[in-house]
Amino acid sequence: MRHTEPTDAQARRDIAPVICYPTEALPPPDLTAYQAARDISLKIDEVRVPPRDARTFRAPAGHFFRITSVEGPQVGDLNLWNAADLDERFYSGKTRALHGTHLTTGHRMWSSFPHLRPMATITDDTLGWYGIDAFGGAVHDVIGTRCDPYTNRLLAGGNYHYCCHSNLTRALTGEAGLAPDQAEPLVHDVLNVFMCTGFTRDTGQYFMKASPVRPGDYIEFFAEIDLLGALSACPGGDCSTTHSSDAAACHPLLVEVFRPQTAPFGWAEPPVNAYGRTHGL
Ligand SMILES: [Zn+2]
Repeated sequence: MRHTEPTDAQARRDIAPVICYPTEALPPPDLTAYQAARDISLKIDEVRVPPRDARTFRAPAGHFFRITSVEGPQVGDLNLWNAADLDERFYSGKTRALHGTHLTTGHRMWSSFPHLRPMATITDDTLGWYGIDAFGGAVHDVIGTRCDPYTNRLLAGGNYHYCCHSNLTRALTGEAGLAPDQAEPLVHDVLNVFMCTGFTRDTGQYFMKASPVRPGDYIEFFAEIDLLGALSACPGGDCSTTHSSDAAACHPLLVEVFRPQTAPFGWAEPPVNAYGRTHGL
C-alpha cells in the first residue's frame, strides 16, 4: 500500500537529531596515565594469527595488547571475554550506541548485560588519522557482525568453514576445552579491527572497502579486566572485494601482550554495573 506524504513531511524531517547516549557523564580514560604505564611495559607474549584462521590470547587486567598488521593489508575480527566468566563478553551494539559506529583512541569496549563495564580501552591507533571518508567509510567498526557460514549459505550456497565465526569457534574450542556446540554460542559480534566500512547513503546498506591498513599499523588496548581474546584473520583479507571464500589475498596478524612495571596512576579495575536487577518486580 502506498502512503502519501503528510503536508508537514519536510518539517518533520527537518527536526534536528539529539545524541541518544551522551557520554559526558562517563569518566574519561586518563590516556596520559595509560601512556606513562605503557612506556615502562615489557612484552611478555605474542601470538601470530594465520590467514583464514583464529588464535586466542590472554591479557590480564592492567596489561596492554597490540594488534599489528604484518606482511600485507588484513582485517581482523576480535572477540573479548572475561577470562574468569565467558558469559561476560564484548557488547558490540551498546559500544556502538555509546561511542559511535567506529572506534579509535579513547573509546572503550563495553561488556554485556548485566555487567556493562569497560573491558578494554583503546590507547593507541595508527589509523586514527583516517577519520570519515567521502563515502562515509571509517576504520575499526562495531556495525558489522562477523562473516559466518550461515549467511554465506543463505546468499551464496555451499559450506565454507573459514569465516571468522567458524575461525573464532575453533579457536575457543581449543583454548577453553569446549565442545563446538558449547563454544559457538559464546562467539559474539566483533570489533572489526582495521576494516573500513560504512552505510551507503542511498540505501543504508552496510559496505566495506579496501582497508587503509599497511604492515606496521597497529591498534593497542589496555585490558581493564582479565581478558581472554580471540582474533580471526578474516578470509576477506583487506575486504576490498569479497569475503567468505578463499578468493581474497590474506595475511597474518600479530597480537602482542605487554606488562607495565606499575599500574597506570589512579587506575582501578572497573566494577560490574551497579543496577540492582529487580526490573521493577
Ligand atoms: Zn571475517
